[in-house]
Parts: sequence; structure tokens; C-alpha cells
Amino acid sequence: MFTPGQLYERAAIHERLGGQQRGGISTPRGAPVALLFTSKTGAAYGYHDRWIDDQVFLFTGAGQVGDMRFVRGNAAIRDHARDGKDLLLFEQMDGGVCRFVGQMVSIGHRFERLPDRDGNVRRAILFELARLESLGSDRPGHRASADLAELRRRALAAPDGEDLTARLQTVRERSRDVRRYVLARAGGVCEACDKPAPFETAEGEPFLEAHHIRRLSDGGPDNPRWVAAVCPNCHRRAHYGVDAVEVNGKLSKVVRAKEAGFEA
Ligand SMILES: [Zn+2]
Ligand SMILES: [Zn+2]
Repeated sequence: MFTPGQLYERAAIHERLGGQQRGGISTPRGAPVALLFTSKTGAAYGYHDRWIDDQVFLFTGAGQVGDMRFVRGNAAIRDHARDGKDLLLFEQMDGGVCRFVGQMVSIGHRFERLPDRDGNVRRAILFELARLESLGSDRPGHRASADLAELRRRALAAPDGEDLTARLQTVRERSRDVRRYVLARAGGVCEACDKPAPFETAEGEPFLEAHHIRRLSDGGPDNPRWVAAVCPNCHRRAHYGVDAVEVNGKLSKVVRAKEAGFEA
């Protein structure tokens, strides 16, 4: 949908996805995304966005006056994996143009004392956003050693850890847990076409792939109710088929029904 490094008119982004046309965090009602806009002029409003290494970007939450709280856009960032939403980071340039930085995953947050728009020092939330591709791919191959309930509990647990490295590690594990859980949930049968996996891996596991039903791309942590285990054919179809919308619609029904059984 967006290519990292490419320029887009901000107005055109909202035409496509909806959402508030102004501000640093835009949460379209009709699309499972939160759009984040970082800009150099934000410093004038007490924002202090910056990369802390190649992979992790600190993004100041919303709120120009007073302590920042976990409401609206800030809550959307914190809860995006649970809510099955993509975080898309753009860098705002001059003249209403934005450069797409990439798809991000929130791995935690920290607080900093920063001046607000009126110059009063307040508590600002800085989200730690990691590049999705830094979290590893959805490769199959690991045999799940725990039972389904345990895998599900792990897949749903929030990332934690003392420091950034530890949090990155738990988010990586969480991505893996989600994949293992949905593969175990499928029990070797594609959740789209109901046929057995087409072959076994060298480890003797039925080959299915984890597909993120609502996301723009696969990978990263996600709520298991938005992830399906599918055969390679159905997977390509869910991304590129003329009937991709229907395939994903059916998948989301199937998965929701299965998950409702676990939640009950
Ligand atoms: Zn299939
Ligand atoms: Zn997919």
C-alpha cells in the first residue's frame, strides 16, 4: 500500500484511508490502522521524536498541554497489536508531503519531562516503535511444545522487559508465539479451504503459513483473533486474489468462531 522512502501527499493518504487530517496521530474509523506523523516542527510543541538506533524510533504521544494520558491516539498506539491495527509511520515534509518511513510495532513506552506548548514542564509519553521487519519473519518450522491454551495465553500477553533490548526480545517472542498458536489451532488444516496442509516440513510439521487477516503485511505481534493459518495457495489468494476481500472476510468469521470457543 505504501512503499518505504516514497513520498505521499498527506491529503491523498486520508482520502484513501480516512482519519484526522491534522495532528501527529490519525486514527481512521474505517481502516485498521493508526497513522503516525513525525515532523521537525513538532519540537515547538514539546515533541521530541528521534531514532535511538537503526530500528527503534521514539515517537512522542499526543497532547499539547499538560501531562499526556493514554487516551485516543495514545491508547491506539499502545493497544494496536491487541486491536489488530497497523502502525504506519510517516515523516512530514514541507508542503503537505510525507515520506513513508515504514510499518512499526509498539514495543513499549517511557516517560520524559518535556515542556508543553505553553512552556510548562509536563509528563510526555514517548512510544518505542520498532520496525516491523526487525522483528523477524513468519517462518514455519518450530514445533510447538506447549498445549493450545498455554500457547494462546502467551500469544495474548503484553510485551514487557526491563530495558529496550529485553522488550524487543519479548516482542519477537510474542510474534513467534502468535504464529505457533495459530498453527496449533489449525491442527494441520487450512483455515481458509479446510483442506489438509499440502505437505510436511522436514521437521514433520504440516506446512501452513500465518496470515494476518487485517494487516497490510504479515509478521509482528497481533491478536490471534486476527491471524489465520492457511495453505500457501490460500495465502497468496488472500493477498493477491481478485476475491481477496471475500477470502479475508471468510477467514475472519472462521477465526472469530474458533476464538469465541476459547474465550467462553
Ligand atoms: Zn487453503
Ligand atoms: Zn498474509
